[in-house]
Amino acid sequence: MASSDDLHRRRSSAVARGVSSMIPAYVSSAGGGTMTDVDGREWIDFAAGIAVTNVGNSAPKVVAAIKEQAERFTHTCFMIAPYEQYVAVCEELAALTPGDFEKRSALFNSGAEAVENAVKIARHATGRQAIVVFDHAYHGRTNLTMALTAKVMPYKQGFGPFAPEIYRVPMSYPFRDGGRDGAQAAAYATGQIEKHVGASNVAAVLIEPVQGEGGFVVPAAGFLPALAAWSKQAGAVFIADEIQTGFCRTGSWFASEDEGIEPDLITTAKGIAGGLPLAAVTGRAELMDAVHPGGLGGTYGGNPIACAAALASIETMRELDLASAARHIESVARPRLEALAAKHPIIGEIRGRGAMLAVELVVPGSIEPDAAATAAVAKAAHESGLLLLTCGTYGNVIRLLPPLIISDDELDRGLTLLEQAFATL
Ligand SMILES: *Cc1c(COP(=O)(O)O)cnc(C)c1O
Repeated sequence: MASSDDLHRRRSSAVARGVSSMIPAYVSSAGGGTMTDVDGREWIDFAAGIAVTNVGNSAPKVVAAIKEQAERFTHTCFMIAPYEQYVAVCEELAALTPGDFEKRSALFNSGAEAVENAVKIARHATGRQAIVVFDHAYHGRTNLTMALTAKVMPYKQGFGPFAPEIYRVPMSYPFRDGGRDGAQAAAYATGQIEKHVGASNVAAVLIEPVQGEGGFVVPAAGFLPALAAWSKQAGAVFIADEIQTGFCRTGSWFASEDEGIEPDLITTAKGIAGGLPLAAVTGRAELMDAVHPGGLGGTYGGNPIACAAALASIETMRELDLASAARHIESVARPRLEALAAKHPIIGEIRGRGAMLAVELVVPGSIEPDAAATAAVAKAAHESGLLLLTCGTYGNVIRLLPPLIISDDELDRGLTLLEQAFATL
């Protein structure tokens, strides 16, 4: 097998520089809570391919379903000749997402595509145009979703002009907003909407229940219910982007459940299909069905192999009760992180929910972000064989996103490597 160094040389003259990789090692195989590179080195996986392989890499049921489906047919295009697997995924989504009302779903290839379609549906159903998003939001890299995303570098720099009718309002970020409670933060945000956009112009309020790329920001309790209530009052569609939080990651099937909210539309992707590209918009039947036949779709959306993988992933999540597994991961990891914070004044806050945990790094005694120290911790972790991601508007958040099937032993080894990485500071 070619070495990582060989592959890296080939890559440099074949792959565009704009597509970068976190580590210089090339993957040979992965499963459970580990990954092995082509040089035979083992890594502990605290990334899950960015919250995708919740059921683990090459989960047995997912592999079997993919093989079986690949042998029957690989593609017909659901808009041409439909098939059961697509329908079955939509039935599962209706059953699993919060809200005891009639629902419909449409399937796509990527998270960004799902978000774009949720916006299309909301605009069509309301006849309005304005979309409200939040500070630190991340919704994707296509033109519309770049406009919805907050952070300029690296996501938007030089890629304008951006789509119009997008309005950004303040997020509830308890560590950084002076400790506003959920109701105060929501009143502040909705006040801004009313002044700068006008409630009657708002097609949708779009929010990640726990922000992902923006820094694993968990809004103060009550913020999301207040926004949902305001949206209802305003006749706006409330959209939860659960692309990173969904499918057991936060300890529930969907993070919306943790706050008792029932979004009008939910976007999903990442954890849905054990690594195959699949995404969905699920929501109230009257909104989803407002769009005329032929108004939604795409060549590959709801590909049969991806749907088979999703059905097997969902079955695996149910069988292994991966929502409980996510809560178990938190019960093991959070005390270790809290102890780390007690030892290192550079840690400003430990936060997150379930297997979506974060460490925010600051100049001790302040809330001034320390991106350099964050990068140094990540680098030390990578050198020791831990796949560890950073995030945050200020680049100063370390995030833990292990596969939910990670063993206690692997989790312990990973946390030890993280502790050692902090010790190098
Ligand atoms: C990753 C992500 C997206 C974009 O998904 P892609 O599949 O990368 O297009 C959108 N929203 C959230 C919250 C995400 O985490």
